[in-house]
Amino acid sequence: MSIALNLKHIKNTIPVNVELVAVSKTKPIEAILEAYNTGHKVFGENKIQEMVEKYNQLPKDIEWHMIGHLQRNKVKYMAEFVYLIHGVDSFKTLKEINKQAKKHQRVINCLLQIKIAKEETKFGMDVNEASSILTSEEFKLLENICITGFMGMASFTNNSEIVREEFKTLKQHYNTLKTYTSNNFQPLTLSMGMSGDYQIAIEEGSTMIRVGSLIFGERNYN
Ligand SMILES: *Cc1c(COP(=O)(O)O)cnc(C)c1O
Repeated sequence: MSIALNLKHIKNTIPVNVELVAVSKTKPIEAILEAYNTGHKVFGENKIQEMVEKYNQLPKDIEWHMIGHLQRNKVKYMAEFVYLIHGVDSFKTLKEINKQAKKHQRVINCLLQIKIAKEETKFGMDVNEASSILTSEEFKLLENICITGFMGMASFTNNSEIVREEFKTLKQHYNTLKTYTSNNFQPLTLSMGMSGDYQIAIEEGSTMIRVGSLIFGERNYN
């Protein structure tokens, strides 16, 4: 199977209102170009440095999504161009993104990452923390970020019932949290679902899926 065919297959099997982020981490420029040449323009990376290198070499109309855990001291390297940051898991990080966005006179879109998996290794905040950020006066003053929704990752398990329950929980949190109002809060996006679980995620209300290996093949971390 080719990258182009894989992409086409996925797009043909998801609703038109669900956005597909092609996760290109660890994959070479040529692979991204193959996807780009089919008309696909939305790519996700999980390391800031790798994303910056790819940004420099690829067409400038690509929408770059940062999906990985963020190191605050590296936010500055992507502030000029990043389109959406999925993995914001603290107010401190949000303030740093705001500060760096301001230097470039931009507004950077962010998703708050909510921890739904039971695994200790997964990042993210709990729903109470998200609530207290969204209702704080300090948050409302951040003019160079916009929270456009939430992101979550299900447990790494073959048990699809566990995965479904976790996505259901995230959707419930989304419904609760989206009732808050602030100029910099426009919660239209619920980012959940990867190669192994995106169908379940869509059934449970996902509006944005992040798919890597099903498009580009298995990753090799050597
Ligand atoms: C790597 C990654 C993905 C894509 O994983 P696949 O299983 O290859 O589709 C999605 N989301 C995040 C946060 C990732 O790190």
